[in-house]
Amino acid sequence: VRAAGTGMTSRTPLPGVKNTIAVASGKGGVGKSTVAVNLAVALAQDGAAVGLLDADVYGPSIPTMMGNRGRPYLQNDKIMPLESYGVRIMSVGFILDPERALIWRGPLVSQLITQFLNDVDWGELDYLVIDLPPGTGDVQLTLVQRIPLSGAIIVTTPQDVALADAVKGLQMFREVKTPVLGIVENMSYFICPHCGGRSEIFGFGGGQRTAERYDVPLLGQIPIDPAVREGGDAGAPIVVSAPESPTAEAFREAARRA
Ligand code: ADP
Repeated sequence: VRAAGTGMTSRTPLPGVKNTIAVASGKGGVGKSTVAVNLAVALAQDGAAVGLLDADVYGPSIPTMMGNRGRPYLQNDKIMPLESYGVRIMSVGFILDPERALIWRGPLVSQLITQFLNDVDWGELDYLVIDLPPGTGDVQLTLVQRIPLSGAIIVTTPQDVALADAVKGLQMFREVKTPVLGIVENMSYFICPHCGGRSEIFGFGGGQRTAERYDVPLLGQIPIDPAVREGGDAGAPIVVSAPESPTAEAFREAARRA
């Protein structure tokens, strides 16, 4: 099958995987992994069979955020994913020392991603959520060449510099004919726990404006919430640690809209 726009010839669907959703961002630190983790767990809480692939090979944070320090093992020549909160997970962080930076060149990184796609026994999945590295590099290219992504979710903050890079990501997915499912605006606002006042720390309305300009849905606006950071560091995503909170509801809403 010729994948239009990529010049590539072999986009093979992953057997047993119904939907493959990439979570992307233009910049690091905007909360892409946080969104990927909470979306994946929210989908699993809804009863779906969900896998989460940490393709952020240069800065894998899924093991920490999912509270999993296990080691994958081989069974029938396949790599068995680990499991947290009902989500099957795979990360380079399970295999390499997390303290050591990955200094591999592009071709090796492409090989690793290909192996994660082909050699991991994902089983039957409704959704495979893929946490991409920030930007538009080798991992993104390998992915869009190897598998037909069902769609991409772009995570950004409302800040202009983050939005500018988010748009680059959005356009990359369009060029390779991958549907953009929508934008999640993270760190949209902060509700002061003392006075209840709302502050728009990184600006206001950027996600909405960008979504309108590029004709994609705005899937959600997630507040800055210390519980999100605490949950991530403690290995319990907020949809698990504080499921009743408005912030957890904002993540679930984004998952439903995507
Ligand atoms: P990225 O994957 O884009 O590099 P991360 O998901 O690793 O970003 O998030 C960066 C840091 O910001 C993490 O410590 C995370 O816990 C924190 N963070 C992300 N989203 C929020 C939020 N909505 N409120 C508070 N902290 C957040």
